[in-house]
Amino acid sequence: MKSINVADRSRPRPQNFYYCGRKCGEFEASPVGNPYVIGRHGTREEVIAMFKIWLWDKIKQNDPAVVQFLFNLPADAVLGCFCLNSEDVAADDWRKCHTVIIARAAQWLHECIR
Ligand SMILES: [Zn+2]
Repeated sequence: MKSINVADRSRPRPQNFYYCGRKCGEFEASPVGNPYVIGRHGTREEVIAMFKIWLWDKIKQNDPAVVQFLFNLPADAVLGCFCLNSEDVAADDWRKCHTVIIARAAQWLHECIR
C-alpha cells in the first residue's frame, strides 16, 4: 500500500484509491479519518501517535465500520489523505501520515485471518 496527498484536486486518482480522512469538500468522512487534528490536538507526530491508539481501540472493540474498511483494503490500495505534506510517499514512515498506520493495521489484520 502507499499513501498520496489529495490536496491537488486536479491530479487523477489511481485505481484502488481509498480516501482516509475526515469529511472535506467532495470527500465523505472515512471511518478511519483521524479524530485528532494537527494544531488543535498536537503536532503531526503527536496526532498520528494518538490515532494509532484510537485505531487499536477500535480494532479491539471490533468496530464494524473500521474493521470492515481495513479488511476490504487490497494489498495494492492507494490511501488518500490531506495530512501528508509531500508528494507521494510509500507506506514507510508513520510520522508523515496516519495512513501509514492504517496500512500496517490492515496488513496485520489480513495476516491474523490467514
Ligand atoms: Zn493522514
